[in-house]
Amino acid sequence: MSIKVSPERMQQIEKIEYGLNGDIGGLPRTTYYTPDGRVIRAIPSIREYVVKDKDGKVSGKGIRDANLDRGWLLSPPSVRKLPCRWCDRWHDTPEEVDACHHQQSTLVDGEAVKAKQKEVNEVVALKNEVAELRAMLSKFMEAKGNVRQVFQPETNEPTQVPGEARG
Ligand SMILES: [Zn+2]
Repeated sequence: MSIKVSPERMQQIEKIEYGLNGDIGGLPRTTYYTPDGRVIRAIPSIREYVVKDKDGKVSGKGIRDANLDRGWLLSPPSVRKLPCRWCDRWHDTPEEVDACHHQQSTLVDGEAVKAKQKEVNEVVALKNEVAELRAMLSKFMEAKGNVRQVFQPETNEPTQVPGEARG
């Protein structure tokens, strides 16, 4: 059973939304429809975009409403879709929602594996860094007494002492 919403009722709903959203005197809002049939009054999320030709030169530009990128529509959907809580978008069938859930949980598992690997890599990188620092430190210790020469830049410009330039 589906509920038919008459245009008059729709206007009433919009008026309520209008009031709740405090539209009076504020930024102009647009009526959007979600693919599952909800009505949203929101400030358009206007973004500028540029069109580039094959040489990378800007050949044109325009504006688009990023709210439409979220899947929102400017007219009520003729066929309602199912909202999906896994990807925050909409699917045609419950099977697709299930498939999306499965895909998302696989992604989450993949992310956990990646995070673990990243951790391992970071520990390895840190160990290497410590080893390098140790090597540098022992070189430094060997060169002790001749420190200035070690850190002298290759150019013949006078070495700036920090603080001196501030006067
Ligand atoms: Zn989904």
